[in-house]
Amino acid sequence: MQPIDFIEAKSLKAKPQDISNVSFGKLFTDYMFEMDYAPEKGWHGAKILPYAEIALAPSNATLHYGQAVFEGMKAFRSKEGAVRVFRAEDHLNRLNNSNRILDIPQIDVAFVKKALFKLLELEKDWVPSLKGSSLYIRPFIFATDEYLGVGVSKTYKLMIILSPVSAYYVNGFAPVKIMVEDKYVRAVRGGLGEAKTPANYAASLHAGSEAHKKGYDQVLWLDGVEHKFIEEVGSMNIFFKINGEIVTPALNGSILSGITRKTVLEIAKKWGYPTSERRLSIEEVCEAYDEGKLEEVFGSGTAAVISPVGELLYKDKKMLLNDGKVGEFSQKIFDYVADLQTGVETDSFGFFEKIA
Ligand SMILES: *Cc1c(COP(=O)(O)O)cnc(C)c1O
Repeated sequence: MQPIDFIEAKSLKAKPQDISNVSFGKLFTDYMFEMDYAPEKGWHGAKILPYAEIALAPSNATLHYGQAVFEGMKAFRSKEGAVRVFRAEDHLNRLNNSNRILDIPQIDVAFVKKALFKLLELEKDWVPSLKGSSLYIRPFIFATDEYLGVGVSKTYKLMIILSPVSAYYVNGFAPVKIMVEDKYVRAVRGGLGEAKTPANYAASLHAGSEAHKKGYDQVLWLDGVEHKFIEEVGSMNIFFKINGEIVTPALNGSILSGITRKTVLEIAKKWGYPTSERRLSIEEVCEAYDEGKLEEVFGSGTAAVISPVGELLYKDKKMLLNDGKVGEFSQKIFDYVADLQTGVETDSFGFFEKIA
């Protein structure tokens, strides 16, 4: 394996006194990791260096054509004080899947994982200990060719930056209002939907703003062809509890294969709930609601883990779920994962790896 160079910071930042006052994604730790790709050298130049701005040519290919991918994962502090990272290998394997879709060279998952663990060990004092808080880990790769021609870049940069974050629900675990989007689409099968890439977010921003204006927190996307089948929420997968069964849309190429989605399915199965990954139409959801069988709706993603949905709007149909309160299953799995994070629950699944 290639060596990882280290450039020491001249001074270190003050760590937050109270993590619950820190807003998401604005504060970064002292160090970051980077390495570059060139055709003749492969991935090279691995180093851990002080977090700082980077210089880019105005002709940088990513700024114009968006050839980039990213990941989002977390490290937690257990009640014993250990630093443990959640499903790092799954996240890095998914980064490679995004690379494949965007025509970016594959990374050596074992090497990047080693580099990440080294960075986390160096930055372990930044991992907050308050329940629900964590150190958010953002690996990303972008094209670095200085060239305005449209084409696959020859060179790339991979970086990992770290950001301490408070619990997602600082003011309690509250349900969100979701608008089912029947006009705009985020991704289509055969497109980039299965990749974690900036383009999918760019495609979603305008619809999100319109939903906000109507008083909704996020949009639920339908399939891009018929506007009939449920896909996912902005940065979350979606689950429905219908007549006792935990249902989520099957991975079809146009939605992201969420690690939290996979985690929810694994836990629900272990608990003995019937689960299914299948095609689910918005009509079926509306019918289940009318028949009183739509018991709970919740989103799943790294940021919130579980995001209960209190209201779902589809065209003129307003569906109030569970009296706007958090459902029983949503609460149970949210509490369980929070206890896995702090080590109050034993990690019988092998989700966590200890750094220090
Ligand atoms: C990251 C992301 C998710 C959630 O994935 P997790 O691995 O659970 O964090 C869902 N949908 C989209 C579009 C995403 O980018």
